[in-house]
Amino acid sequence: MRPIGIDLGTTYSAVATISENGQPKVIKNADGESTTPSVVYFPPTGEPIVGSEAKEYQAVGENDIASFFKRDMGDKGFFQIFQGRKYSPTELSSLVLKKLKADAEAELGESIEAAVITVPAYFNNGQRNATIEAARLAGMRVLRIINEPTSAAIAYGLSSKTKAGTTTMVYDLGGGTFDVSIVKASDSEIAVLATDGDHKLGGKDWDDRFAAYLAAQFKEQFGADPFEDQESFNDLMIKCEKAKRELSQRDSTKVSIVHNGEKGTYTLTRAQFAEMTRDLLERTHRIAQSVLNSVEGLTWEKLDGVLLVGGSTRMPMVAQFVEEMTGRPPLRGINVDEAVALGAALQAAADLQSEDDLSLEASSSEEFTLPTIRDVTCHSLGMVAENQDRTKYLNSIIIKKNTPIPAENASEYTIRVSRNREANKLEVYMLQGEVEVPLECTVLGKYVFSGFLPTKTGRAQLRVHYAYNRNGTVDVRAEQLNAEGGLANLTLTIEPVPEDMSWLGRSPLENDPPAPPPVSLVIAVDASGSMSGEPMKEAKKAALSMVEKLDLDRFHVGIMAFSDQMATLTECTSRKKDVIGAINALDVGLGYGNDACPFEKAMKMMDRGEGAKFIVLLTDGCWSYPKKAIAQAAKVKDEGAEIIAIGFGSADHRFLKTVATCDENALMTDLSGLVDSFSKIAQVLSSGDSQQNTSLVMPDDPDEQESGKGKRKGFFSRFF
Ligand code: AMP
Repeated sequence: MRPIGIDLGTTYSAVATISENGQPKVIKNADGESTTPSVVYFPPTGEPIVGSEAKEYQAVGENDIASFFKRDMGDKGFFQIFQGRKYSPTELSSLVLKKLKADAEAELGESIEAAVITVPAYFNNGQRNATIEAARLAGMRVLRIINEPTSAAIAYGLSSKTKAGTTTMVYDLGGGTFDVSIVKASDSEIAVLATDGDHKLGGKDWDDRFAAYLAAQFKEQFGADPFEDQESFNDLMIKCEKAKRELSQRDSTKVSIVHNGEKGTYTLTRAQFAEMTRDLLERTHRIAQSVLNSVEGLTWEKLDGVLLVGGSTRMPMVAQFVEEMTGRPPLRGINVDEAVALGAALQAAADLQSEDDLSLEASSSEEFTLPTIRDVTCHSLGMVAENQDRTKYLNSIIIKKNTPIPAENASEYTIRVSRNREANKLEVYMLQGEVEVPLECTVLGKYVFSGFLPTKTGRAQLRVHYAYNRNGTVDVRAEQLNAEGGLANLTLTIEPVPEDMSWLGRSPLENDPPAPPPVSLVIAVDASGSMSGEPMKEAKKAALSMVEKLDLDRFHVGIMAFSDQMATLTECTSRKKDVIGAINALDVGLGYGNDACPFEKAMKMMDRGEGAKFIVLLTDGCWSYPKKAIAQAAKVKDEGAEIIAIGFGSADHRFLKTVATCDENALMTDLSGLVDSFSKIAQVLSSGDSQQNTSLVMPDDPDEQESGKGKRKGFFSRFF
């Protein structure tokens, strides 16, 4: 397969391959030019037109023109509409790639299946993936995505020029972007040590300055603003770009503006142009300085040179500025428009060779021994996490900026298995940025993990892994550490990032949904004569064991005794001391038999609010007025309380079933099983609470209601 490298630029793109003599060379397009404008024109009928022809349509004021879409690459919400159809930046890029591919195929006389494509070093995960997708739409496989400065460094042969290791800055000023990297090269390795950029700074800004200056001159002379008319505006922009290039050759240039029936001709000198755009170069200085500072111990004096890349570095003011900045002239010797594509072709040759090696095919005749390339991450990648006291969200950095690629790192987190939050789901918001405040970072993706296994503590411990692969795209995975049986891999679903992320500006506490109202639970203990002695002792132990297992912030517990009469030992309360005191005070002595019915009284002891209501009834015998008891039980059940009836001794299971909410809520046990039964109920109540079943009384799951088919469903049937 023929090695192909593509520089998919903001303003111009280029394709390169390796010639018969083993040298990289640019493949000319159908117009015989080595670069193709990244411009698309959508005519009213027929296929979109890409390249110089599209640029000419732009010059004559056509509106259906797409350009500079690389600046919006990866922005999922960005679309442009042409001839009634929506186009994403990815689709527009794929049209450029299709044209580059077709022209190169025609020139080479063979088809192109795969290529190395270059992107700015600061391109993030989404932007890189969008580039891979654009190639796929154009019918090409991406052998690898490499960073533009790395590609330029390969083309310059930085590594072959030095054995000992030199440190160079690649200063790449293109049409729409500025990119700066520090590259360390030896004969065996090219390592990018640090990189940064501004994707809204490039030759276009120089054009804009030029045009604004001329438009102001015209307005002063004729009182009309050429910017107000689309055709005059386009014409002016094209002329300015041309004149800007002329100023790279000559000391001055002339531009004529025709607008509103008037014509004005203006002269601009190279020095004037440099003066009016000085601040743009100052911006490159700030970025270059900060990249330099980020490499420990590196200074302008220690730097071995600055390599200029990108069409805009043809402006003499750039070389002058770099000389001022570094104290010596920049490195020369590469074609600034072609270098990136040439380096990509060399990389493609090396990649194809290693593919051949892997598939044990006969290796190609040319041997490309490229140095190993070590790139670094351009941004820190983190995730949204909560601080300890849940007062704010933080950007928890997992992979730091300028980490060598491929890079993998993991961080451990605990998630609260909160009652109100879907405890079995973890939402990871991937952040790009260096600052701690998530809202000041870019949210790159939303990764939702599920498949958590239950934990005893109600908290899940997780490890979230980020892995930067060689294309600079990121793979995310997570595992649960405290699952029973060891590690458990969690299932990942990628979801779109919500448009409204303003919740990150509030505290996690503020974002919690309101806590559900407390659950009222009355333990009603039979205090008839037969309970005296051992039975009452066991009943108290059982009630105490239940209270120990309940979180009294969530459960308000009341204690009552009933025999022929009734006694409220405590109303429903969250005060543990009162509840324990009441249990200890339980005793026989309210009569000998069971004349009383406890349900209505129990109901009165409960909180008035919306919270769920439970009566846990314990009895060891038959009651004097079963019918009355059944009627009262029915009433409180209608009012929303759930009855769990536990019997032992000579209790009647059938009777208990009629008072309980459902058959499963009526249990028969013996004295030795009392503590166990009460503990179990407490456990189920608590776990139900933490599993989101905030409404223990009212099942709101339609399936559940459906399967109930009119039969009341109780507490046990819902949990077992
Ligand atoms: P690139 O994205 O690297 O192809 O750079 C394209 C940018 O370089 C565009 O803004 C061009 O206007 C600019 N450019 C190309 N040639 C020259 C030149 N001779 N002088 C000034 N700018 C140039």
